[in-house]
Amino acid sequence: MTTPTIVVIEDEKQTRHFLRLSLEAESYHVFDADSGNAGLKAAATRKPDIVILDLGLPDMDGVDAVKQLREWSNVPVIILSARSGETEKIAALDAGADDYLTKPFGAGELLARIRVALRRTISSEQTESGIVSVADLAIDLVHRKITVAGEEVHLTPIEYRLLSVLAKYTGKVLTHRFLLKEVWGPNQVDNAHYLRIYMSQLRHKLEKEPIRPRYILTEAGVGYRLAVE
Ligand code: CA
Repeated sequence: MTTPTIVVIEDEKQTRHFLRLSLEAESYHVFDADSGNAGLKAAATRKPDIVILDLGLPDMDGVDAVKQLREWSNVPVIILSARSGETEKIAALDAGADDYLTKPFGAGELLARIRVALRRTISSEQTESGIVSVADLAIDLVHRKITVAGEEVHLTPIEYRLLSVLAKYTGKVLTHRFLLKEVWGPNQVDNAHYLRIYMSQLRHKLEKEPIRPRYILTEAGVGYRLAVE
């Protein structure tokens, strides 16, 4: 396996330095940029396995940077946001970012998110085969068959649609709005209670301990994601 390459787009010198040190200590190849334009250029030329993107950039709105990148690349994007930037963070996730870290964060948290993002790339290759598996859970998207530890689980059509969207984007943080749009349609994006109800039903069918979910993880105030392992 080749050493993963990471492009870091961050204008704050201290954070950029911290990211470089933490990532190089794990022997990732790091290219960094201090502006959105330089970063997008690096993302185009360096063929990174992951892009880490600060949302507060001097020359470009971070959400626009995600949108631009998504026009030509599926590379996993981890955004960095300030604690006050909740709305912006959700907009960046809706625009196609995969995950987020809220400043300040530690090296351990950063490296864990990177491992998830790299696993996600492998999982999306797995998705092409039509079967997504997470520990004991197997989702066969071709035959629409769900099993937990080999036992078939019967889902309603809506429950199935919800799970299949999560499976299609394994490991990625999916916002409430995105899930509502994908499962119920664009006119239902404000009906967050649909999501709560169906998520609870789904967890009761899939999870051993629905209040401590193993497969479908809650991202508080943001959305949900399917675990990668
Ligand atoms: Ca910044």
